[in-house]
Amino acid sequence: MEIVSLRSGSRGNAALVFTERTKILVDCGVSGKTIENSLKSIDISPDELDGIVITHEHNDHIMGVGVMMRRYNLPVWANAETWQAMSEQIGAYSNELQRVFDTDKDFEIGDIGVNPFSIPHDAADPVGYSFVNGSEKVSVATDIGELKKDLFEAVKKSNTVLLEANHDVNMLEIGRYPMQLKRRIRGKYGHLSNDDAGKAAEFLVKLGTENILLGHLSEENNYPKLALKTVELALDQADIKVGRDLTLCVAERNTIGRCR
Ligand SMILES: [Zn+2]
Ligand SMILES: [Zn+2]
Repeated sequence: MEIVSLRSGSRGNAALVFTERTKILVDCGVSGKTIENSLKSIDISPDELDGIVITHEHNDHIMGVGVMMRRYNLPVWANAETWQAMSEQIGAYSNELQRVFDTDKDFEIGDIGVNPFSIPHDAADPVGYSFVNGSEKVSVATDIGELKKDLFEAVKKSNTVLLEANHDVNMLEIGRYPMQLKRRIRGKYGHLSNDDAGKAAEFLVKLGTENILLGHLSEENNYPKLALKTVELALDQADIKVGRDLTLCVAERNTIGRCR
């Protein structure tokens, strides 16, 4: 099983979790065309998709959901509150394609076990996901206001984690965002900073993670080298070495991101 970030960042998010048999899109916050092209670039046809799972209803996660649903007859999984919050934005869809799950209850798509877990973020009922196939586990943990124990409980022992490193605290502080937005981003229901990602990365590696893909980088308040460096330095402090103990990469905004 592998996870590939198709697009990542405040402008739009989509990732693909896949085995030989099963292909799951995690969010679809870019256009249908962009999804089609990015899948093509990794030799996967959109016809092979088994469905879309949704983390939360913010536009950078659902923009292309309606189009992909209609174009490829794709079932979409979300919890009840997220369905309610997003249904107007995704346009008309056949009821047969609507799948509703309970947060914290596992379900299966093909040969992949899916575990949605609750995350602190300012949406109706936001979730992160862990995916399990045999002895392999990968997780998506972005759009998270603060690090809590239950997050690590949910994602522990993941081989690979797509982990949010949204902003550099100093860039956000001196940047041009209005005060209210800065407060939202920094808040308990906002986004993880590079420093937070560094702390999280340390825990994750200690809990068995081998690959960390930093994602959801802000275009305004972060850049890939800075996110990588900040997390690498935090890991260094804990005597965890990139290259020796883990692979650390960035899920870029406008291209494919994968840890290999
Ligand atoms: Zn969000
Ligand atoms: Zn987001």
